[in-house]
Amino acid sequence: MDFGAPCLRGASFSAYFAPGLSSFRSVDASLALCQASNRFLTIKAAANGRISSHQNGRHSRTRLDDGSSTKYFDFLVIGSGVAGLRYALDVAKFGSVAIITKSEPQESNTRYAQGGVSAVLDPSDSVENHMRDTIVAGAFLCDEETVEVVCREGPERVKELMAFGASFDHSEDGQLHLAREGGHSHHRIVHTADMTGREIERALLTAVKNNASISIFEHHFALDLLTHETTLQDGNTITCHGLDTLNVRTKEVVRFISAVTLLATGGAGHIYPSTTNPLVATGDGVAMGHRAQAVISNMEFVQFHPTALADDGLPIKPKSRENAFLITEAVRGAGGKLFNMARERFMPLYDARGELAPRDVVARSIDDQLKKNNEKFVYLDISHKPAGEVLGHFPNIARECLKCGLDITKEPIPVVPAAHYMCGGIQTGLSGQTSIEGLYAAGEVTCTGLHGANRLASNSLLEALVFAQRAVNPSKDHFQRVQGSYRAVDEAREWTRPLESTAILEDSQMEEIRKFTAVQRKSLQQIMWNFVGIVRSTERLEIAQRRLEELETSWQDHLFRHGWKPNMVDLEVCEMRNLICVARVVVRSALSRRESRGLHYTTDYPDLVESRRLPTVLIPAYWNSGLVNRLSTGSVSSRAVKTTQEFQPKTPVQA
Ligand SMILES: Cc1cc2nc3c(=O)[nH]c(=O)nc-3n(C[C@H](O)[C@H](O)[C@H](O)COP(=O)(O)OP(=O)(O)OC[C@H]3O[C@@H](n4cnc5c(N)ncnc54)[C@H](O)[C@@H]3O)c2cc1C
Repeated sequence: MDFGAPCLRGASFSAYFAPGLSSFRSVDASLALCQASNRFLTIKAAANGRISSHQNGRHSRTRLDDGSSTKYFDFLVIGSGVAGLRYALDVAKFGSVAIITKSEPQESNTRYAQGGVSAVLDPSDSVENHMRDTIVAGAFLCDEETVEVVCREGPERVKELMAFGASFDHSEDGQLHLAREGGHSHHRIVHTADMTGREIERALLTAVKNNASISIFEHHFALDLLTHETTLQDGNTITCHGLDTLNVRTKEVVRFISAVTLLATGGAGHIYPSTTNPLVATGDGVAMGHRAQAVISNMEFVQFHPTALADDGLPIKPKSRENAFLITEAVRGAGGKLFNMARERFMPLYDARGELAPRDVVARSIDDQLKKNNEKFVYLDISHKPAGEVLGHFPNIARECLKCGLDITKEPIPVVPAAHYMCGGIQTGLSGQTSIEGLYAAGEVTCTGLHGANRLASNSLLEALVFAQRAVNPSKDHFQRVQGSYRAVDEAREWTRPLESTAILEDSQMEEIRKFTAVQRKSLQQIMWNFVGIVRSTERLEIAQRRLEELETSWQDHLFRHGWKPNMVDLEVCEMRNLICVARVVVRSALSRRESRGLHYTTDYPDLVESRRLPTVLIPAYWNSGLVNRLSTGSVSSRAVKTTQEFQPKTPVQA
């Protein structure tokens, strides 16, 4: 759905696998996602390089005269999780910074992280061990260079966090207490009991609030990137100049013009009905990037956390939750065992590593048990451990369960898988650069190549920290290049922006639009859960694809019947547009992968296929050979698989 948002669109996308750095092979038909239908305002680049708008064929150019709602900052950061905050603190040394965040500043996936940050800090551990664990968990689809960079730089980033004031648990010998989680061969998880994310968010947010160069714009919903296309000899380049936002409280559209923009909008858990992610995780960054024609990778790899608290199995049922409560991996790391309802320990039947197998294996094993036994949950038991130890390590989980009438030191915890983490996203290079000039990205919104087909536990806070820091120097360089000119850009180019306020709608119309959107949002989530879950098939993915298209059409029709205008904006409606976009990208990417690898398991192609051990890369169709060449030579971000012999899978199946 198009809201007249200020980015170039209308071109179709193609699904490609990128088989190495030198060539590309199209494996799929054109992907026409999030396209503007001609009912809507569409933005086109005029021949002179300016942006003009057309509605129903009529030319309706709009200048931004009201400078009051246009703000200028050297650096714009979208998102106030670990990635956005960490980056903001560094770039604030070079210029003014605005952090845009759609809710309260602390509301983010970061805040809910329990287990911790993985880093090689024990003398008996090594970077090579951490790399191997990451690559094995990632089903050998990881980019080895990225993995090495992250594992090598991780310890330094953790020490910096402590310098920013984050307080982590220490052992009696005064050393950092390092926990162990599923998929890790060593103890390497730095943590603050089971509330690590809350502590990191607190420390970084405090530092940000004390920094005079940083302004936080809370309750500002990022609508769309302001982009502009330039024709160069070797192909066109898209440049990002900032962002339009909706002040959710005042309903005002506020434009931010910047030299550099960092996308750090986190995950997309809410494309599923049951997710550990808070409500803010609606995939806005990937959808915005997609509309702006950024390269996007590996969206089929959605991680389901094996052990979210199963409310159905609790003595006292909690009121309906916005997000599922997570039972951290560390419970299994500390010796927690999984049982089915018949009290049989089932993990050893599936994997020799038992409960310490990577998440995808554990989630699929639980899914299999639930289907075989027609049950709603399994049990995770830690009650055999001393109560003091359990309460010391997992006070938050113990408290939450006790509220629901369950004492985890005495009884097993009912658990069920829930959508947890998006491994795919906006493709970045080793410095967080995207395929769009002036746009960098860090954190869960990205695909850096670290996670491959499955994220290793506690590697995502680490990835966000490493890439937020790596994006600083190139951002500074870009800022210094355009420092003298970027403020004038809004004068030189013109972007339409949402013109009509929803205030012109009757209350009853708006109520109906919101009510219907909420119902459709639930339907979308159910489609994804039923047809694009832990175990997939081509037929079910095709059903999902069809139903998502139908849902989008009927949703749009309903809105327009109730007075909606193409250039209106509203939080719930814009989130829905993004959820549809991301869901469709996930389904299309999943259909493109004709093998089972990591988090993508399909009954039609149940084996690993070595010749398909390639990332799924969505490249905008406007890219010509010059741009593909730039991608392949690395001057535009490209993370292709270069896994060496040492990390090769043991028994690959040949196509
Ligand atoms: C329950 C839970 C437990 C986890 N445990 C761990 C763990 O132990 N270890 C680990 O490594 N990882 C863990 N993760 C994953 C990890 O927390 C996230 O991947 C990481 O915090 C992402 O950080 P981020 O900065 O990229 O995004 P987030 O922390 O999600 O921040 C995104 C920010 O963007 C804002 N935003 C989004 N869309 C918009 C928009 N349109 N306009 C304006 N603002 C917007 C959000 O409001 C938020 O401020 C866990 C995740 C969850 C949900």
